[in-house]
Amino acid sequence: MWIYLNNRIVQEERARISVFDRGFLYGDGVFETVRIYDGRPVWLDRHLARLARSCRQIRLPLPEKQWPAIFQKVIDKNRVDHAAIRLTLSRGTMFPSPLVGEGQGEGDETPTIVLFPRPLPHVTPAQRRQGVKLTIATIRRPSPLSHPAQAKTLNYLNNLLAKQEAAERDAFEGLMLTTGGHLAECSMSNVFFIKDRILYTPSLACGVLPGITREVVLEVAPTLGLQPREGRYRPESLYEADECFLTSSGVGILPVETIDGRPFPKRTARSWVAVLRTRYQRLLRAQGRSCRGRSL
Ligand code: PLP
Repeated sequence: MWIYLNNRIVQEERARISVFDRGFLYGDGVFETVRIYDGRPVWLDRHLARLARSCRQIRLPLPEKQWPAIFQKVIDKNRVDHAAIRLTLSRGTMFPSPLVGEGQGEGDETPTIVLFPRPLPHVTPAQRRQGVKLTIATIRRPSPLSHPAQAKTLNYLNNLLAKQEAAERDAFEGLMLTTGGHLAECSMSNVFFIKDRILYTPSLACGVLPGITREVVLEVAPTLGLQPREGRYRPESLYEADECFLTSSGVGILPVETIDGRPFPKRTARSWVAVLRTRYQRLLRAQGRSCRGRSL
């Protein structure tokens, strides 16, 4: 695999970062995971805008780069058509290297930049069709007052714990609540539910990541006859919903079959989720180029 590392493309064996890197030491950095469809990055402009917002929120200067060209280079060099590219940006090293004595400065803070391709999350055809299992996670989404929730930072321990707990309960995703007990988002995806043609999703004020797929779904929903509504919702609202689904760049739009064992009985094959997914797939195709069938 070819990795972009600080202005160079190197084989993965040669991609090395410092043990003093602040991303490694403190999770001091940001990242993006961009879907690659037919060899093209999907909604890259939106991802780069979110990257810039994330950087501003943690006061990390975003290096000026030809980002689209860098993404394309990683895609082409690795010959991937259907995958994701992860971009990681950390604040650089904490200490000068080599360390020449006590009382040295704080490192040079030249950001470390890494891009590599990764496979899409594994979703079986049955899960795509019938939906996945969801569980309410024990761990809560941190308050936006304590963590810049809308920045996609390298601090993912909460999310990983929620994901691990979900796996232990044989669920695909763990749905995290806010500290006040309202719905927030899943460990690696945003959540939506539908009741009587209204499309509900927790608002950004609930400390959720402004997902790119979430943004696209909110934009297209009214053109399909669904009325989007962002707000604060208790888990009980979800239990009474007709349908529920998850969104992320990796999984796209994924129906939910059950939440902690409760099914969504009104879900049918001709569901709103299916309608949304058809439109989403069309938008994805429009972002790609000719399909050459390569995947990671
Ligand atoms: N929420 C969290 C916590 C995520 O990690 C992700 C994606 O990784 C999302 C939501 C979905 O965001 P996007 O649609 O931009 O992939």
